[in-house]
Amino acid sequence: MNRQYGLIGRSLGHSYSPQIHALLGDYAYHLYPMEEEQIKPFLLSGNFHGINVTIPYKETVMPFCDVISPEAQRIGSVNTIVRNSDGALHGYNTDYYGFSRILGDTQSFIGKKALILGSGGASKTVQAVLGDRGVQFVVISRTGVNNYNNLQLHADAELIVNTTPVGMFPNVEASPVDLRLFPKCRLALDLIYNPARTSFMLRAEELGIECRGGIGMLSAQAVRAAELWGERNPADPDPVATIAESVQRDMRSIALIGMPGSGKTSIGQALANLTGRTFIDIDAEVERVAAKPIPQIFSEEGESAFRALESQVLREAAKQSRSVIATGGGVVTVPENLPTLRRNCAILWIERKPEELPISGRPLSQRRGVEELYRERRPLYDRWSDARYDNIGIEDTARAIWEAWA
Ligand code: NAP
Repeated sequence: MNRQYGLIGRSLGHSYSPQIHALLGDYAYHLYPMEEEQIKPFLLSGNFHGINVTIPYKETVMPFCDVISPEAQRIGSVNTIVRNSDGALHGYNTDYYGFSRILGDTQSFIGKKALILGSGGASKTVQAVLGDRGVQFVVISRTGVNNYNNLQLHADAELIVNTTPVGMFPNVEASPVDLRLFPKCRLALDLIYNPARTSFMLRAEELGIECRGGIGMLSAQAVRAAELWGERNPADPDPVATIAESVQRDMRSIALIGMPGSGKTSIGQALANLTGRTFIDIDAEVERVAAKPIPQIFSEEGESAFRALESQVLREAAKQSRSVIATGGGVVTVPENLPTLRRNCAILWIERKPEELPISGRPLSQRRGVEELYRERRPLYDRWSDARYDNIGIEDTARAIWEAWA
């Protein structure tokens, strides 16, 4: 069998699909970025056994399919093609299966209101799944009767699904709606998978609403595609959760927090070397942007100007994937830095005894004393972090983090 597979779309630079398919089996999976006029010759070339299709070609490929599955027909888009031995192209929509997986059990939503934000391709898949499950839904569209100016009509919504790109990298601070408008909401799903936790999801977490992002859907649709291509036996153990976790772990960044002098920069650099990730030192970035050393920023502009610049630099750094970020010790004193980090980073606290912390070149440690700073910040490091690592030496600490998080 020709075991060539791949993904066609317009811009594929940020695609996670090769990584997901590499976890699914030992077959070749390539990215084929192309313009619309290249699609027909590519599909007719026959140089593949299976192809995934992404934005903006999920409808474009349909006329070239000899057979289209009922759900793809109903949704009006194809994201997976199988080329049979006789050359016939069969089109499927495995996003239907992917979304069903992150949706979970919907028994308690039958007869309740769901909102689907956006009316594009993914929205049509979500509409088909919710419709098949008997969940009543309203589509919120910028140009529709139900739009973002009359959301108050739907304050009774219990399930909200974001199918818009609002909140997606690089504009990660945006959210399509303010979830506080929906006091009955019990489940918030976001189809976006970069960042791992969108602003929409962070707000859901804050309000105690169950939420899930798009990585599970992306993984599940790929699993289904591999089954359709004959590369995976559906009877084998379900790999969706493991794949989603593995991809998330590989793509998210690692942010180190902790007291000034606790070893974040040296450990971060060592971790970046071990993992091949990009290393970003926030203090060094601040000095580069300000074009002066941190003690000089403090003495000339004051702490609040330094904090504002630090938050700005952090916002840019923390949305990058696969980085190791050493933050400044006071990053936890600005509450808005927490969502900035949580969106796409595992936050790890590097701990070192206060009596071992150096104070040279650290204006706050000198002015207020290490003990006082430590007392103030310790509870914040504790609350912000996903895990704590004692500094047991640069290489050993980096290795311990690598084994658990990278
Ligand atoms: P699409 O066809 O372009 O549809 C997106 C829809 O979002 C648009 O039709 C539009 O609806 C709305 N929208 C676009 N820009 C907006 C803005 N600035 N503000 C508010 N609404 C806006 O794209 P798609 O293929 O449906 O994909 C949408 C999102 O789902 C993307 O982020 C994509 O990555 C994600 N997705 C994820 C998976 C997965 O496996 N996790 C699968 C498919 C898609 P209105 O014009 O009606 O407002």
